[in-house]
Amino acid sequence: MYASVVVEIGVKNVDKIFIYLVPERFQDDIQVGARVKVPFGHQVLEGFVLELKHDCEEQCEIKEIIDLVDVIPILNSEMIELGNVISSTTLCSKISAYQVMLPKALKASYKTNIKIKMDKYICLNMLEEDVICFIEQCRYEKQKELLKRLLQEKEIKISKVDSSIRSLIKKEIIRIEEREGYRYSYGSVYQDKRIVLNLEQQRVVDRVLEFQNSYRTFLLYGVTGSGKTEVYMNMIERVIQNGKTAIMLVPEISLTPQIVDRFVSRFGDDVAILHSGLSDGERYDEYRKIQERRVHIVVGARSAIFAPFDNLGIIIIDEEHSSTYKQDNHPRYHARDVAIFRGKYHQCPVILGSATPSLESMARAGNKVYELLMLTKRAGKGMLPVVHVVDMKEEIKGGHFIFSRLLDQKIKEKLEKNEQIILLLNRRGYSSICTCNACGEVIKCPNCDISLTYHKTSNMLRCHYCGYAVRKFEVCPKCHGHDLKDYGLGTQKLEEELLKRYSARVVRMDMDTTSRKGAHKKILLDFGEHKYDILVGTQMIAKGLDFPLVTLVGVINADASLNVPDFRSSERTFQLLCQVSGRAGRSEYPGEVVIQTYNNCHYSIQYAQNHDYFSFYREEMKIRKQLNYSPYYHIILIRILTHDYEISFQEASKIGDYLRANLSSTTFVLGPAMASVFRVDNVYRQQCIIKYKKDDQLKKVLLDIDNHYKNNGKVRVEIDIEPNHL
Ligand code: ADP
Ligand code: ZN
Repeated sequence: MYASVVVEIGVKNVDKIFIYLVPERFQDDIQVGARVKVPFGHQVLEGFVLELKHDCEEQCEIKEIIDLVDVIPILNSEMIELGNVISSTTLCSKISAYQVMLPKALKASYKTNIKIKMDKYICLNMLEEDVICFIEQCRYEKQKELLKRLLQEKEIKISKVDSSIRSLIKKEIIRIEEREGYRYSYGSVYQDKRIVLNLEQQRVVDRVLEFQNSYRTFLLYGVTGSGKTEVYMNMIERVIQNGKTAIMLVPEISLTPQIVDRFVSRFGDDVAILHSGLSDGERYDEYRKIQERRVHIVVGARSAIFAPFDNLGIIIIDEEHSSTYKQDNHPRYHARDVAIFRGKYHQCPVILGSATPSLESMARAGNKVYELLMLTKRAGKGMLPVVHVVDMKEEIKGGHFIFSRLLDQKIKEKLEKNEQIILLLNRRGYSSICTCNACGEVIKCPNCDISLTYHKTSNMLRCHYCGYAVRKFEVCPKCHGHDLKDYGLGTQKLEEELLKRYSARVVRMDMDTTSRKGAHKKILLDFGEHKYDILVGTQMIAKGLDFPLVTLVGVINADASLNVPDFRSSERTFQLLCQVSGRAGRSEYPGEVVIQTYNNCHYSIQYAQNHDYFSFYREEMKIRKQLNYSPYYHIILIRILTHDYEISFQEASKIGDYLRANLSSTTFVLGPAMASVFRVDNVYRQQCIIKYKKDDQLKKVLLDIDNHYKNNGKVRVEIDIEPNHL
């Protein structure tokens, strides 16, 4: 018998699949999908068995498998098939597709040493009446107490064997039992409350559950606070009543602890939680709960989509527009694509939920690829907040740089009423964008309608899509002012300003204040208990928070995300403003939002002001169509990375030429151009962008390029299909 085994060697994206002989003694136990130890050169490696067969065409000498690692396969047939799909659609190696599905403890690797933790319990080892007799004669208080407890509780978990336990064991009155333990426990402080769904919500639940035994993808558009989470929990409840299982994805657990709290408080031990904050041991334990069918529900971030349930009944992706669902490094899979694969495999519904669906998803709903469901009203007592847009061009004339007069007045008002405030400081995506301090003008590429990036060394403004370059302007082309530069305001500075101006308790949430484990949760908990009046933060605070006392949300500089040189910057700005506005007025206290901007006429700000997703969608689609961006065109980013400045230009232009010569004439090739951040860690970064609708040559051309550079020690090429960022 022969086995083909895939192993991981080094970091290169190269599949090594080798044939090994299966010795007699393993033939009964070896299984496809299990790990085995194999010789490779002078080393011993671990790999996955992909296939077992009886003959082998290979001529050269075949080595023997050294040992079996698993008796039960780690990869089931669904995962093997899914790995093949991920590998062929994202151009990654099979081994990396398999590895990404697994917790570290189960990856094929010779180094991991994560053990199952065994918990010790004591229990009675003789009849109860004999124990009662013993208690009557026993002289030791401690032993008597322990036995009385055991009579009631039947078993007690212990951390160590002390002298009284040892002596009771010796007398054969009690015994120790060991069982697999789980390291992670999510302490929820939330009190579950049952809510009767309103008509809109009930309609959504009923419609989805018509598809309990067949595949369909739904796009659930629901305004912020419309009760999507409640809808999710209802659907999941019904699915698990029928014995099936559910996956619930959220963008990032640390940023959305309230959702997890609600799930844990309703479903208790039936939930496993998977996120990046877990230790390897904890992650392994949560994974095993799923494997061993101890839970029916997984709540987790992107990689939880691989939860090894074998009878999925529903998959839900909340905040489906979030870019965290696509992995930014190799393998570049998108959780939505995996969800749809699994939905088809298990014949179950997939729900993509958002208050601001991505254009791609809404376009698919328009084409009836997905079915659109809607929640148009806030579910509870709350109303959507009133949004004010303040033109900062006017404000700075009067010397109001950070706080506009309106925001200042509103802050005072709310503090007086003892209500809470959230202030969002939109972090600048890139610092090197040329803006006019007087009129807010941002210098853009005439060809691509995206912001130009300032390259200091050459004093040039460059478009990193098409390569257009122009000398840095000295005067603003719009207002002829001489104030073209960066203005920067950090969260720390903002916090200081607040403390100076108002007598308020202020808490800050950004990268600095949340680096410690559990810091997010603590800040949010404290804010929820009204230990602070104002929460200041970056984009981190925009998502999923539900604080009834928050009646004012301020956005300090809405423009920062608008000026990011990316064709999705309008969409991201609209999403951010809607999300953060959604934090205000979630209870009976009406909410208000103040957006400060230099671009008060920009459509994404105006539509966000009116909570008007569909008008935004139509407007933005027009632009995408005109400029041939997604969702009208598919986009592929090819990055060329090298330490050598000269080579970076040479190779990039070779690749550009190759693409132009070999792709169909209806496909657009942009570049090569320098990436917006050209040099990172002394690696020069060039890029080409491909825009296509349908191109039969494409797959072959990409594979050719990929293969050509695989073994090149100097130049690395990364191919990102449907990239998040350009
Ligand atoms: P979303 O996820 O759409 O932002 P949530 O599920 O968080 O909305 O609901 C927002 C608020 O409305 C929560 O406080 C929730 O308890 C409440 N809520 C949800 N559904 C109902 C309902 N049918 N009746 C009353 N309150 C509801
Ligand atoms: Zn351009």
